[in-house]
Amino acid sequence: MPDHVSQPRLLLRRLHSVMAGSGKPQDRLDRVVRVIAQNMVAEVCSIYLTRAGGVLELFATEGLKEEAVHLTRLSVGEGLVGLVAERGLPLNLSEAPQHPRFSYRPETGEDIYHSFLGVPILRTGRVVGVLVVQNVTPRRYKPEEVEALQTISMVIAELVASGELVDKQELTEDSGSTGEPITLDGLALAGGVGAGVAVFHQPQIQISRTVAEDIEAESQRLEDAIAEMRVQLEELVEHPNLAHGGEHREVLETYRMFAYDRGWQEKMREAVLSGLTAEAAVDRVKTENRMRMAKIRDPYLRERISDFDDLAIRLIRIIQGDKNSHRAELTEDSVLIARSLGPAELMDYDSRYLKAIALEEGSTTSHVTIVARAMGIPMLGRVPALLSHIEAGEHVIVDAASEHVYIRPAEDVLDSYKATLKLQEQLHAEYAAERELPAETKDGEKVTLLMNAGLLVDLPSLDNTGAEGIGLFRTEFQFMVAPALPKVDEQTKIYSAAMDAAGDKPVVFRTLDIGGDKQVPFLPRDEEENPAMGWRAIRIALDRPALLRYQLRALLYSAAGKTLHVMFPMIAEVAELRRCKAILNKEIARLAKYEKEPPKAVKVGCMLEVPSLAWQIDLLVKEVDFLSIGTNDLMQFFFACDRSSPRLANRYDLLAPPVLSFLRSIFKACHDAGVPVTLCGEMGGKPIEAMALVALGLRRLSISPTSIGPVKRMIRSINLKVLEDFVHSNLTSAEHSIRDSLVHFARDHDIKV
Ligand code: PEP
Ligand code: MG
Repeated sequence: MPDHVSQPRLLLRRLHSVMAGSGKPQDRLDRVVRVIAQNMVAEVCSIYLTRAGGVLELFATEGLKEEAVHLTRLSVGEGLVGLVAERGLPLNLSEAPQHPRFSYRPETGEDIYHSFLGVPILRTGRVVGVLVVQNVTPRRYKPEEVEALQTISMVIAELVASGELVDKQELTEDSGSTGEPITLDGLALAGGVGAGVAVFHQPQIQISRTVAEDIEAESQRLEDAIAEMRVQLEELVEHPNLAHGGEHREVLETYRMFAYDRGWQEKMREAVLSGLTAEAAVDRVKTENRMRMAKIRDPYLRERISDFDDLAIRLIRIIQGDKNSHRAELTEDSVLIARSLGPAELMDYDSRYLKAIALEEGSTTSHVTIVARAMGIPMLGRVPALLSHIEAGEHVIVDAASEHVYIRPAEDVLDSYKATLKLQEQLHAEYAAERELPAETKDGEKVTLLMNAGLLVDLPSLDNTGAEGIGLFRTEFQFMVAPALPKVDEQTKIYSAAMDAAGDKPVVFRTLDIGGDKQVPFLPRDEEENPAMGWRAIRIALDRPALLRYQLRALLYSAAGKTLHVMFPMIAEVAELRRCKAILNKEIARLAKYEKEPPKAVKVGCMLEVPSLAWQIDLLVKEVDFLSIGTNDLMQFFFACDRSSPRLANRYDLLAPPVLSFLRSIFKACHDAGVPVTLCGEMGGKPIEAMALVALGLRRLSISPTSIGPVKRMIRSINLKVLEDFVHSNLTSAEHSIRDSLVHFARDHDIKV
């Protein structure tokens, strides 16, 4: 084994025992610099740590004047130490005083030292300090010395991370080379502005043990993990889903190629031989790669950083036995950061502290988006490489209006954000003041605005917004957060609470719409190739009639003496609806048998969200008391375009002529039959879309509570006659969308969209 490899190993063990030993943290740090200086045959060894505001403070030194400790402070970028912190890379100089960035601090007495080697002390990708060795004689340090010092710096990072030297709070504040403010673009999924500290949905990996007890064993752990990672990737690439190629496959092929990258593996192996644990070795190489590649301008190469990052994280998780997947607890104003997020996962968070969400993926009609809107949490999706730009605990602002995520925002951005928040509050106050005003066009056409709900926390919004009722109560949300199937009496309680809160206003309960992206813990989950078109909603209910029967029973109990509105989701044909009605009728009959008070009336409706049903509309309207159009699903099937695919999020526009013509024909059939028709998809909550829908004859919208104010304002500013002519004349357009024309029309006619 080469000398330079075995030597740092001994040094690491000594350092580790010094750090784990007794005495005050400062004393231990003083001993650490002495040990390093001795072992590296250096006249000077100093440790600078990053403090709040990006200041590097001399914390310990062997060789420089003692009085400089805690006195010498440099900003990031200032002097050679500041340069190391700024770039996050080692700096190796034989003639330091001649370097243009050399800045002499008389209190240190360092002018006599010619050679300088500084390495950043990194913790999960951020610079938390700088470790320096210096010698009087001019010399360039050997590559193995640089390596050794970098490894040592990892061990020091462990001591720093403990928070004994610098308060943990300070450590997570803005500092170092990764601490520059940056702004990333995304796609607004739920409106508003929110700010807080970054919390990772999948917590970042934590490495608690860096120094190896047994190098052989660590080498074996690393080799085993690499082998396991390769097996996992082979399985992924060979998965039948990918058999026909496509982009997924290409991405995975690239991954597989990286998994065999010799240079990468050699570096990790060397890091283990130098005395690190397997996970610390992977992390060390990961950080190094990231720091090096972050300087590269080529976008393709930069993309590769995240590939290597992903692989390294995968590898660390394999090494650690994948035990880092617990949910983060929120304790202060937080912004949730994730690649993707499920609706149930979102609901698990404490909404009091959840101020915003930023995702690398996500689309406008995915269920997590709907939940975020319902909870009134601003959310931005499709933020490229979000995870690699941010560290846990950093400040983040999510602004859905400008579609920006501000990471470590600068002072002026913070100020203007505060102003925006104020404006947001002002706007909310204005909407609240308008809540009693009718949603009526200038020429006297009334539109009924209802709200969508699903959680009990949504209910106060009925009064706050002036909504005329709940047009869609998504009952599945309660099931998604329950560990076991809620019993009839538990369900009854929830439905009663919703009806009580609504008072005289109607509540339309939709029966369970689970499956697809709404998974419940108590039902086995089949791996389906196409879950959105798979075993979900009414299909599950009809195959497991007990589930539907108990739910209908709970709904009937909660509506004793009142009017019950119930509707069935994902109905594809009238025959299916009839089967549902038969089950409902049995449950109504059962009430009499058990002498339970029946509802005053039972109104039955269904969702129109599968296109086939539109071709039975004439039959359908005879079977229902009301109809609700679920454009979120309807449109994904209409365009054959997965609603939760981030890649397709902007592919088709709902203001396309075929969509509008199709919807108009449904509105007309319902009006002709005298059946009330509501649109309850996300489309209706956007003022411009709602404007088109009203022009096509729709008079009932069920939307998220936060949309009621803006949509009502739009309705109150239109002159329907003029708008109708305009929209109808655009229906024959061959354009991809008539959005631009509508926006211009709104601007020219002073419509508030
Ligand atoms: C819809 O599909 O438009 C709808 C309202 O139902 P969900 O979004 O819950 O699937
Ligand atoms: Mg739906």
